[in-house]
Order: sequence, then structure tokens, then C-alpha cells
Amino acid sequence: MKNFSNYRDFDTKENLHFESKAVHGALGTEPLTGAVSMPIFQTATFRHPELGNSTGFDYSRLKNPTRLELERTMAILEGGIEGFAFSSGQAANMAVFSLLEPGDHVILSDDIYGGTFRIVGDVFGKYGITHTYVDMSKLDQVRAAVTPQTKMLFVETPTNPMMKVADIRAIADIAKEIGALTVVDNTFLTPYFQKPLALGADIVTHSSTKYLGGHNDTISGIVVVKDDEEIAHKIYVHIKSHGSQLAPLDSWLILRGIKTLAVRMDRHSENAKKVAEWLRAQPKVKQVYYVGFEDHKDYAVTKKQTSGFGGMISFTVDSFETVKDILKGVDMIMFAESLGGTETLITYPTTQTHEDTPKDIKETLGITDCFLRMSVGIENVDDIIADLDRAMNGQNV
Ligand SMILES: *Cc1c(COP(=O)(O)O)cnc(C)c1O
Repeated sequence: MKNFSNYRDFDTKENLHFESKAVHGALGTEPLTGAVSMPIFQTATFRHPELGNSTGFDYSRLKNPTRLELERTMAILEGGIEGFAFSSGQAANMAVFSLLEPGDHVILSDDIYGGTFRIVGDVFGKYGITHTYVDMSKLDQVRAAVTPQTKMLFVETPTNPMMKVADIRAIADIAKEIGALTVVDNTFLTPYFQKPLALGADIVTHSSTKYLGGHNDTISGIVVVKDDEEIAHKIYVHIKSHGSQLAPLDSWLILRGIKTLAVRMDRHSENAKKVAEWLRAQPKVKQVYYVGFEDHKDYAVTKKQTSGFGGMISFTVDSFETVKDILKGVDMIMFAESLGGTETLITYPTTQTHEDTPKDIKETLGITDCFLRMSVGIENVDDIIADLDRAMNGQNV
């Protein structure tokens, strides 16, 4: 029997395909009772049999069996040595930026998740960590931003919300040359479609609130470290010191979500492609940002490094009136922040996800008041399209 409590003592299930690994996790079953569903170990602390003897679990902030199963499962799926589960994607990214020292410099994608702007600007700025935003789909911009202090290249790809694609391997090569870490926020595609560690990245982060959990029912984050023991230890100490670990019930929800990740991602992807094509044919739609279009400027990179396009689409419409019609008129589709769940959600980035993105950056990027983002769910795609059609074109009412 594998040691329940030892982080590293798990079978990586190398012989299994991704879908099977996602279903069966690390230990899969609970070793003492054989429970097929890993139980929710709702306990704060663990009893010791005698001095100097423990089950390996002491206190749930440090390690909890349900959370550990999730952490190991994510290490398996992303291909790293160790995973960590946080109370949110923000907490996960906070832990990663905490690896930096005063004086260090970090380069980030210019249309990164709005909350990440806040972390580097408001939180770490005052500790003397500097940053530069660049269009990471343009490698010359990445190279030009490098300074002798650059210690981290933080990549989100595809980007949120402009759907630009960065070449992970090329960026990791630049980082290696200058002795910096490559971190990839893999929230949008998940390891089912994209494996940053295999492409040369050192660390992967997730808002597992999104596709990994997949049901819009809890907030959580993940960090997976590829092979550096020291970094893994620092992340462990961070979680232990900051107390930003994921609770047992929420760990279980994410584990349960992961079991169906592959089938959900396939359906998200299939539906998004149809919705993107439909949107493109609409007179009121001016531009559609979708990585699965063959004429997307980064299509070659997408084909090279991912095995699917995911479920995210952004688009601009002809007027603010149309924006209001859509957001008010949708019925099955919900006007709500977030993404990656079974339900189709439509978001207005200007005042929601990207409220904190500096105005000048928003304008340069094209996040205007006619801009919408959609997370295409796994409903019947005909219903998604009919709903959009009714809301936007006032038909079939
Ligand atoms: C949502 C999101 C985050 C933040 O995660 P929370 O779980 O909301 O804290 C970070 N990165 C990306 C790409 C996201 O979509």
C-alpha cells in the first residue's frame, strides 16, 4: 500500500491515458476502508498514537488527506513533482509571486487576468518588485523587456480576454537563457489541452474555480511545480505561513470535477467552435476573438502546443445598445462573471473581470464598451445559439 501521507509516494500511473488518470487520481480510493470516492476528511487535527509517532498528518493547514489527493492528482495531470491546493486562484498566484525577492523584475502578459494586475501592482509593488507588461505573443517584445533583474516570466495563454497565444516553449527558452522562472497560468485550457511543464515551464498555476472544478460551485487555486525541490518547499512554507490552503470539502469538489474534465473539455470545445462560427456570421458582430479560427494570427502556435481550443470566446458588437440587448435579453445563458463551468456565462470585461486593469491598457487592448466575453458551456449548442440570436437579433420571441 502506498504511504497515504507522503507527498511523493504515489503512483504516477504513467501507463494510463489522461482521461483515466483524471478519473482515478493519485490514490483514487481511500486506503483504510476502500471507499471509492475519497472521503471529505473534515477534521482540523489528527491524533498521535505516541510521542514521535504520527500517521503523517498533524494539522489540516499543513496537510489534509482530501487536499493531498487533489494536490497529487494535479501533480500527475500536469506532470510535476508536487501540487498545492489553495483557497483561490488569486491565493495560488500570490504564492508564486512570493518566490520573488525585493529588487526582482517580472514580465507579464499585457492582457492578463485582472486580479493578477492587482497582485503585481498593488501588493508586490510596495515590496520593491517591478514589472513590465508586454504582448507575449510577440517574442521580440518579451526579449526587449528583459532586464538584469528579470527573475520571472509569467504567461497566460490564451490570454484573457483577447485570446492571444504565447509560444510557451520559446518563452521558456528565453527565461532559461537569463536564469528566470517561467510560470504559466493554465486556467483556460487545463492540462487536458495544454501541458506547460512539458513545454519547458517551471510552474503551472490554475484558478481551479474554472474548468477543473467545472461546476461554478466553489473557488480554488492550484500550483504545480515541475522538478525544483527548493521551489516546492518554498510554496509549501508559503501555504503553511499564509494559511491559504483549500478546505477539505472544496478539495473534494475539485477532485470530483476533475473526474469528468476530459469529457467536459471536449464538449466545451465542440460547442465553442460552433458558437464562434455563428457569431462571426452575424451582422451586428464586428470581431470574434477565438483561438480555433484558422486565420487567428497565432493559429500555428496553437496547433503546435495545444490539443484543443477550449471554450472561451470574446467578441465586439456594433454598439453599446447591442451589448445591453444581449446582457438583458439572454435567458438560458447567464450574465455573470467567471468561466469554465457547465453553464454558458457571458461577461462584460470592462466593468467586471478587468475593472482593475489600467484604462490605457484596456483601450490599447480593445476592451471597449462594445466588448463581451463568453464561456461556452456544455448545454446543447443549438439552445446556446438560439438564446444569443433572440437576445441580439430579437428573433423568435
Ligand atoms: C479566475 C482567474 C484567476 C483568479 O482565480 P480565483 O479563483 O477567482 O481567485 C486567475 N487567473 C485566471 C486566468 C482566471 O481566469
